[in-house]
Amino acid sequence: STIIETTEISKVYKMGSETIHALKSISIHINRGEYVAFMGPSGSGKSTLMNIVGCLDTPTSGTYVLNNNDVSDLTENELAEIRNKEIGFVFQTFNLLPRSSALENVALPLVYAGLSKSAREEKAMHMLESVGLGSRAHHKPNELSGGQRQRVAIARALVNDPSIILADEPTGNLDSKTSYEIMDLFAELHSKGNTIIMVTHEDDIAHYAHRIIRLRDGLIESDLVNQNITDPA
Ligand code: ADP
Ligand code: ADP
Repeated sequence: STIIETTEISKVYKMGSETIHALKSISIHINRGEYVAFMGPSGSGKSTLMNIVGCLDTPTSGTYVLNNNDVSDLTENELAEIRNKEIGFVFQTFNLLPRSSALENVALPLVYAGLSKSAREEKAMHMLESVGLGSRAHHKPNELSGGQRQRVAIARALVNDPSIILADEPTGNLDSKTSYEIMDLFAELHSKGNTIIMVTHEDDIAHYAHRIIRLRDGLIESDLVNQNITDPA
């Protein structure tokens, strides 16, 4: 079933007398459970598209339907509410609270869900265990390796049971070995039915996805099912 449907979305930025067409009538259909990579050169519109898909911004024209809700014209507050409910964000910089433990970081999104402290901690612990970090629950981010920090960030992104995981250069700050470990974790999440969309400029990382959408100059240059996948999706 459809989770993301953009219909002819455009984004125009005005900078003084200059008009920048960052996205030019982009239509994308993504089903629940897909694992998609957005690629493209710098300035091609990847961030603009991710910001719209992640409900951090709205298109200038066109429609965006996320999980059966038209979110094209929502206010800031309405968008924030949809984000908290539907989107799990993973960033290259991890964005963890430095003074809080791994467990507290993962439990944070649940505060808005109105759960009791013990229920939050129980759920967060379960998420940490599922990313292989149960034994690091009480460590602070600076006591963890880069790969472990990213796994904490992934556990935090998943704790609210979001409709989609949006990962912006999730391996951007990691060495190759650790990057592949994170990609293995994404593959596992995908096999459990999660919908994952990531932005990357690295071909070997993009090839973990099952579909690669390439942007150029605000247009879709190609939208291909990954031929190199060997596991049954
Ligand atoms: P990418 O993520 O692929 O590098 P972006 O989506 O960041 O591409 O940018 C697409 C185009 O839109 C670029 O020409 C960029 O300069 C322009 N752009 C992006 N954000 C803004 C903004 N807030 N104001 C003005 N122009 C912007
Ligand atoms: P709220 O209004 O609900 O506090 P925020 O604006 O703080 O929402 O952010 C909501 C979500 O968007 C968070 O998951 C946050 O990590 C993410 N976010 C905030 N700023 C950015 C950004 N510049 N780029 C990508 N994601 C962001």
